[in-house]
Amino acid sequence: MSSATLRAFGQTATGRPLEALEVPDAGPLGDEQLEIAVDHCSVCHSDVHLLDGDWGDVARPLVPGHEIVGRVVRAGARAKISEGAVVGLGWQAGACGGCGACRSEREHLCTGGKVRTCTAAASPSPPTTRWGGFAERVRADARFCFELPEGLDRATAAPLLCAGLTVFSPLERLGARAGMRVGVVGVGGLGHLAVRFAAALGASVIAFDPDTSKRQLALGLGASELTDACGPLPRGVVDLLLVTTHAPLDWTAWMSVLDLEGTLCLVGVPGAPLTLSADPLLDEQKHITGSVIGSTQTMRRMLAFAAAHRIAPIVERASLASAASVNDAIARVREGRARMRIVLDRAPG
Ligand SMILES: [Zn+2]
Ligand SMILES: [Zn+2]
Repeated sequence: MSSATLRAFGQTATGRPLEALEVPDAGPLGDEQLEIAVDHCSVCHSDVHLLDGDWGDVARPLVPGHEIVGRVVRAGARAKISEGAVVGLGWQAGACGGCGACRSEREHLCTGGKVRTCTAAASPSPPTTRWGGFAERVRADARFCFELPEGLDRATAAPLLCAGLTVFSPLERLGARAGMRVGVVGVGGLGHLAVRFAAALGASVIAFDPDTSKRQLALGLGASELTDACGPLPRGVVDLLLVTTHAPLDWTAWMSVLDLEGTLCLVGVPGAPLTLSADPLLDEQKHITGSVIGSTQTMRRMLAFAAAHRIAPIVERASLASAASVNDAIARVREGRARMRIVLDRAPG
């Protein structure tokens, strides 16, 4: 049963480390909602952006975590998932259900009120409370919770819920398939999954990363060619280039890696506005676009595809039991030292 408070690790002000907190629970369970006991939660770079204040002010305390695998401990009367089910929850925990995007199976682009898993905006005041996976339980609309298919390991599946969806959605939407050449820029939490999904979809994959060991890793994941992202870039070698890094890049130079009419797609969040020459857009009819998570239908297809092709994220495991362990995981993700994703495990009980 629900208690009045939840144990959580949260940040009380920007720049502070996370600390053990007791936070109010989410109140009465909505008819469409699930309450999920968190078993595993991995750390996404978006958590670091939120904690560091890169994306503006958010409500405090901030309890991060949006790559969650857990067990349903309570289900609302109209929820289509029952108590006891093992489910995953990603970045999105709800949507309005009535806008054009929601009515056309693009809930991730909802214009009527997207709900994020791990925080609410600081305004309007008072902020609504919504805790991420660093709390012992999370609350979400059941339409945004996904029963894990057979064959997916519970703990290592956690990063699929955000990172996996984030790369699978544009690969599928932009037609990655046999005969297509896909470049992946950055072999990290997102990039290593992009290499695996693109290869499993049949595309030939070129991985770009300045780190030799990460390029070697990509070879084992299905990349057929490797390129040092710091050296001279090859020209016209891919049809689709997925950019998973956050670093500012020479966008005009990277557009030259595309063949005629190719597409560069951002999935990492660049830290600065894009500046690029219009020439490749005109003379070579190239495209530049971006992609954010994916729809609920895409999430289901991604999870089924990962299970069928035995695509499991490469993870380190750590404990979701102490502030020291949680802060160490955040620091390693912030500094790019995670290999490739860190999953925090909550001890049972
Ligand atoms: Zn994320
Ligand atoms: Zn909507």
